[in-house]
Amino acid sequence: MAYDKNRRPGGKSRRKVCAFCAEKVDYIDYKDTAKLRRYVSERAKILPRRVTGTCAKHQRMVTTAVKRARYMSLMPYIND
Ligand SMILES: [Zn+2]
Repeated sequence: MAYDKNRRPGGKSRRKVCAFCAEKVDYIDYKDTAKLRRYVSERAKILPRRVTGTCAKHQRMVTTAVKRARYMSLMPYIND
């Protein structure tokens, strides 16, 4: 069985601080597509938390902002 080196034994590992927490962001502007683009894949899919390191609170804001940006046609839904 492969031993996962990324996962530390004993449960709680030191968590990577989310980029928005580091900047003390409490609102993510959906118009800030330059920033939002970093949280979506090449195909315009929203990246999961484990990829970006974003905390639950900010991940939810990212999701909301991206969805709003899509609705306002600032970002694509699917990018093939
Ligand atoms: Zn955060």
